[in-house]
Amino acid sequence: MKATQISEHIWSLRTWMIIPITVWVVIEEDGVTLVDTGMSMMAKGILKFIKRLNAGPLKQIVLTHGHPDHVGALKSILNHDTVTVFAHSKEVPYLLGERSYREGKKPVAALINGGVQAFAEDDGGEIHAIGSLKPYFTPGHSPGHVVFYHVKDRVMLAGDLFSSKNGKLRKPLFTPNMKEVLDSSLVVGKLLPKRMEVCHGHSVFNPADQLSDYISEESKKHRTSVVSAGGSDKIQRRD
Ligand SMILES: [Zn+2]
Ligand SMILES: [Zn+2]
Repeated sequence: MKATQISEHIWSLRTWMIIPITVWVVIEEDGVTLVDTGMSMMAKGILKFIKRLNAGPLKQIVLTHGHPDHVGALKSILNHDTVTVFAHSKEVPYLLGERSYREGKKPVAALINGGVQAFAEDDGGEIHAIGSLKPYFTPGHSPGHVVFYHVKDRVMLAGDLFSSKNGKLRKPLFTPNMKEVLDSSLVVGKLLPKRMEVCHGHSVFNPADQLSDYISEESKKHRTSVVSAGGSDKIQRRD
């Protein structure tokens, strides 16, 4: 597993299983937050890294979503450190094994009942920050997918909202609702991160610069069209 410091407060930990699989450790004032947990065989390496980092204990785990490659090490880490796990309320039934992402497939619990807490939201649906990370609801790849934005470092931890290749935005893998993903991708134009990290790919610098090209290319494939209104923030659908 390879550890890389990507900004003042954020480290990425990466392994390869045909594709890269990444989790992130975010340094807070009183310890660290783990963003996603990767595959089960990453548990030991993640815990060892947090100890070696010497920035305080693991305070909490936050999840972009509950796909197996993001929650595989969850049980082992929780056996070692009893911390709260946060995810979007729409993702919770999948994490608890009450629903399956794939129709007709047996649900698998990523953790035991009651072990996950939904993000707190205000009446308008805005999700409250957890430590220095602000979650943004970005459905499409999964029903309750979120990205995390670190305001001070201007880094977006985008999970599977995108993948990337050679610094270029690419669509996420195994995505049931690509139209929704394209709508969700507008968050990049709103927040203008300096650097974006994805779970399955490499860093993308100033991703907002590529956003309209990415959306128009993907929209063509998915029969949607983009109306560029002073930038890149409107999508209109034809079908
Ligand atoms: Zn996924
Ligand atoms: Zn994934």
